[in-house]
Amino acid sequence: RHSGEESGIQSEPMLPPKSLSEREKYLFMIRRGLEEGQIRPHYQPIMNKSGDVYGFEVLVRWPHPERGVIPPNQFIPFAEEEGLIDEIDQYVAEYACREMKSLIDQTGQNFMLTINVSANHITKRHFIEKLKRTLEKTGFPPSLLAVELTETTLLNDMDDAIYVMDRLRELGVQLWIDDFGTVYSSLNYLKKLPVDVVKLDGSFVREIHQEMVDRMICESIVRLAHNLNLQVVAEGIEDESQLNVLSQMDCEWYQGYYYQKPIHFNELQNYVQTVNWVKRKGL
Ligand code: C2E
Ligand code: CA
Ligand code: CA
Ligand code: CA
Repeated sequence: RHSGEESGIQSEPMLPPKSLSEREKYLFMIRRGLEEGQIRPHYQPIMNKSGDVYGFEVLVRWPHPERGVIPPNQFIPFAEEEGLIDEIDQYVAEYACREMKSLIDQTGQNFMLTINVSANHITKRHFIEKLKRTLEKTGFPPSLLAVELTETTLLNDMDDAIYVMDRLRELGVQLWIDDFGTVYSSLNYLKKLPVDVVKLDGSFVREIHQEMVDRMICESIVRLAHNLNLQVVAEGIEDESQLNVLSQMDCEWYQGYYYQKPIHFNELQNYVQTVNWVKRKGL
């Protein structure tokens, strides 16, 4: 149906260690993974309901030469605790903007690119300067970039967040709220931040065709978003029945294994030759 993502080694990934010296080693391993280019962005398409491509989300992959593929859920939270997440996000953003700028040139298409940024990183003011420099350096068009705010840590300073998001908006970069509905502060985000899109969390989508409660939650979120003039991306679409239920709710965009798993840039270059694109107005 579609190409697999985790190409290469498949052994047991290592869990982040507990002891101090082991943590230092793990940290060192991540740094080396960045320096040696082991850690690489992968891309998963975001589509309309007919499967035309609207954009791509960047999801980081780490096929470690000895330890197998280490999933982001194992090293991202660790990197957040250890203060290394800024470096990872920055690395991923630059790598992805560069690759996707070349894909824009290659295809002549204006698609969206979304990057995940941890909440405790986005509230730092240097984030904006770094992102601006990345956009300049790579030539990636700001209006095609969206930042997905992932709520792994609490946004504890709302004023800083508002400041940074307003600057983002001035650059033309969009703000998307990830995993919408799973954190208690989600509604507060909509009230206070300049949000463009909400991503309906995959946990609600999973049983939408069987569970009345999940269906009602999705329906309420989509309606709320539309009342606020926001668009909705449904994550984790794995089969047609989930797609059908959500398209009846007029959800705009879809993402999941049903369409395509996250793939490496090399594979993406072949993949894009097989797809249709959502027509966008100029930049
Ligand atoms: P997320 O942003 O909510 O990403 C969605 C996750 O669902 C991804 O897991 C993706 O591979 C997976 N997924 C996509 N389609 C389907 C589907 O149809 N079914 C199922 N069951 N899963 C699907 P992944 O790649 O393991 O990433 C996990 C989390 O790690 C992400 O969750 C995101 O919060 C974080 N992450 C990934 N890359 C980065 C990054 O560069 N920076 C930061 N800060 N966080 C990242
Ligand atoms: Ca995301
Ligand atoms: Ca998500
Ligand atoms: Ca998540």
